[in-house]
Amino acid sequence: MLSLDLDKLVVDRSRMQENTYFRPQLTKTTRMHTRTACLYLVLFLLLFPACKSRLQTANSSRPIQFTFLQLNDVYEIAPLEGGSVGGMARVATLRKQLLKENPHTYTFLAGDFLNPSVIGTVKLDGQRIQGAHMVDVMNHADVDYVTFGNHEFDLNETNLQARLDESEFEWISANVFHQTENGLRPFTISRNGHTDSIPAYAILDIRQGEQRLRIGILAVTLTTNQPSYVSISDPFQAAEKTYALLKDEVDAVVALSHLAIEEDQELARRIPGLALIMGGHEHDNMIHRVGNTVIAKADANAKSAYIHQLEYDAATGELKVNSTLKKLDESLPLDPEVDQVVKGWEAKAYAAFRQQGFDLNTPITTLKVPLDGREASIRNQPTNLGVAIARAMKEAWPGAHCGIVNSGSVRLDDQLSGSITEFDLIRALPFGGKVLKVEMKGSLLTRLLEAGLQNKGKGGYLQVYGLEKKGDKWFIDGKEMQADAAYQVAISDFLMSGREENMEFLRTDHPDVLSVIVPGSEDIQRDIRLVLAEYLKKQ
Ligand SMILES: [Zn+2]
Repeated sequence: MLSLDLDKLVVDRSRMQENTYFRPQLTKTTRMHTRTACLYLVLFLLLFPACKSRLQTANSSRPIQFTFLQLNDVYEIAPLEGGSVGGMARVATLRKQLLKENPHTYTFLAGDFLNPSVIGTVKLDGQRIQGAHMVDVMNHADVDYVTFGNHEFDLNETNLQARLDESEFEWISANVFHQTENGLRPFTISRNGHTDSIPAYAILDIRQGEQRLRIGILAVTLTTNQPSYVSISDPFQAAEKTYALLKDEVDAVVALSHLAIEEDQELARRIPGLALIMGGHEHDNMIHRVGNTVIAKADANAKSAYIHQLEYDAATGELKVNSTLKKLDESLPLDPEVDQVVKGWEAKAYAAFRQQGFDLNTPITTLKVPLDGREASIRNQPTNLGVAIARAMKEAWPGAHCGIVNSGSVRLDDQLSGSITEFDLIRALPFGGKVLKVEMKGSLLTRLLEAGLQNKGKGGYLQVYGLEKKGDKWFIDGKEMQADAAYQVAISDFLMSGREENMEFLRTDHPDVLSVIVPGSEDIQRDIRLVLAEYLKKQ
């Protein structure tokens, strides 16, 4: 078999710019293994021997190779789908394998990991866990660098600060700031008696013999979730400013981001010098190229990870990126040490759930079609998950005409697929809550439904079953709704508390509420997750 040592080849960059045919093979390559690249090169040399003079044998330096392992949007520490995919213990195994191949291996998590999660909702000693389990497991899995995702700010200020201080990995952010008494400051991390500000960038110092390589990493986050203690500045301006500071200090710059894909593409257009953007926020794997910038996102919950094999050629100043999506399935064993830490947290959380009557291990059903709980879907339109919950509520109460739930009850921000247990239903509906049977007048029900439509895009958008709007009229159980008629509505206790946005009028003491039935402590309607489990078992 033909072989050729790529390390011994140096490409004349100025000439390559002119040769558009040749260029894609040796500039940044994606999804192309080095071996494949070699084969292309060999074929090229055989087919175009006249071009051989454009390649020179390296005299002094060898290209420096290093590896980035990229995760994004990891909410659960344990594997999902009956243990067959994901899990931080598999991430740890993969990291160790890569580290064995190349000691210059770095692990990144591009935001969204402190919330939401099943274990995070559990109270231990009166305090909700709120991401402490994730930080602990990430510490044991030896994650190196992270940035903020929007879900990090679901935590209150005290909890987020506690998680920052517990982190043994490094946080980077160019545009997330802490709103303090003394004005805007970078967030800080206090460890071992030292308090450090979270920097706008980090520099990796990679040494290979006499050679030294410096890679700058800047990080930015989208602006969607800003509670009063947080201020997030324009990610593009922050990235441009940081890039300008960084570019002359280092050999190449990459970005860690938590942005929508359109924003990542804009970032690549604005800063064409970025070799790679390791992104998050979207939950399905993707890879894009804008100019010379590779943008990659893996699947949420470590169902997959991106492995970026990078190669810097000092002679040409080029950083080649070769990205491979790696599925984290049963072919990767669980790392025993990290698995033990995961199981420790699970044991504590499961004990709490068992006390509430849940069976977290027995499969309920195997889904033929994934159930959609992604926020972008469920807060804007009926989804099969939203409708299934509303239908389960209706069927749990004999005589109910319809079922109604606010889409904000669903905090999965993902799809449920494959074999599922009550654990997955707790993931989907982490707040739980009772399903009430409320008799109300058609006028009030119509007002509620209209407010639900007004809440499109928010958690107050309603998922319903047994209700339909045709033209400007509402139909219930197939019949036109009458303002003065009384209807039986299966509805969450949260909605009846008047705490949902634009639905403050909906309270049990409203004059058009005719009766309210509250489930007893042994009734299945005491918890919406049990109601959904019962419904799915019958499917
Ligand atoms: Zn996000």
